[in-house]
Amino acid sequence: MSVQMREFGRTADGRVVNCYRITNASGSYVEVLDYGCTLHSICVPDRDGVLTDVCLGYDTVAEYEANDGYLGAFIGRHANRIGKGKFTLNGKEYTLAVNNGPNHLHGGKNGFDKVVWATCVASDRLLFSHTSLDGDEGYPGNLLLSLIYSFDDNNNLTLIYDAVCDADTVVNFTNHCYFNLNGQGTGTVTDHLLQVNADFFTENDADCLPTGEILSVEGTPFDFRTPKAIGKDILQDEINLKNGSGYDHNFVLKGEGIRPVAELTSPKTGISVITSTTQPGIQIYTANFLTDRKGKGCTTYGFRDAVCLETQHFPDAVHHENFPSAVLKKGEDYHQVTRYTFTLAK
Ligand code: BGC
Repeated sequence: MSVQMREFGRTADGRVVNCYRITNASGSYVEVLDYGCTLHSICVPDRDGVLTDVCLGYDTVAEYEANDGYLGAFIGRHANRIGKGKFTLNGKEYTLAVNNGPNHLHGGKNGFDKVVWATCVASDRLLFSHTSLDGDEGYPGNLLLSLIYSFDDNNNLTLIYDAVCDADTVVNFTNHCYFNLNGQGTGTVTDHLLQVNADFFTENDADCLPTGEILSVEGTPFDFRTPKAIGKDILQDEINLKNGSGYDHNFVLKGEGIRPVAELTSPKTGISVITSTTQPGIQIYTANFLTDRKGKGCTTYGFRDAVCLETQHFPDAVHHENFPSAVLKKGEDYHQVTRYTFTLAK
């Protein structure tokens, strides 16, 4: 294993952004920016041994800063939406930055995706740390975070999130990597086979905000209990698909502790990614709002050119008592692990 660092660029306000490449014994590598702890590249072999970059990203800091979509970013303090950007905790109402119609999305206007993180490097891993001050985007408490990103010789990319706060608060962290296992910038992912260990998903309204209803996947386009092409049912005339303009939903994951929860495979390259996590949910987002733009190299990205596998607590949990709680109590340890294992389909 080895880690190399290079300067990637500068933010508009002059902060230096570095790119760290972790390479394993077989030559597979991941690249991570300290800007947003962003997964910039994931290069793994296809069935012919050709290294293939399966993660969307940009060539410059300016594009990461200017564009929407949160490509590859670490998301916090709260992944996905909080309705109307308000919540009440211990009898006190908090008002958050609103940045998605009437709602708060992915930590607000200046979420963790825009932070340049302090970074320490070890042989196979990166340690990122940051302190989010009381009142940051409206959230209570000084929150101390440390993230570890590691990559090993078996192509396991492991993300470990730890945090502690000096007041009761809410947190929900995820990573927003856009996967295209045919190779980034090669078009749609509707041919990818997806399997998700979920019997239920959370219903959304037209703003992609959970209604609180937990629906069975049985007999719906949301049944991925056995592998199914993403495009198979995506065009069905079904209200949840219409509300998300495709898949943009939280699936209720079976089991607890670190366990495999989803598998995505490209029939074309044979590349598979198995997602394992300690989290209770996963947002399957088929890049329905990815508008046309330039990507890494000479590529272009657009509608449905990737899929995000965002392990998380359920969106807007703070407004739904039937969802696992996203409250982090003062002094309590927050700890979540997600692992993406890159392999070749059998
Ligand atoms: C959300 C989408 C949103 C996308 C990019 C996803 O996690 O569920 O609704 O458009 O992130 O911001």
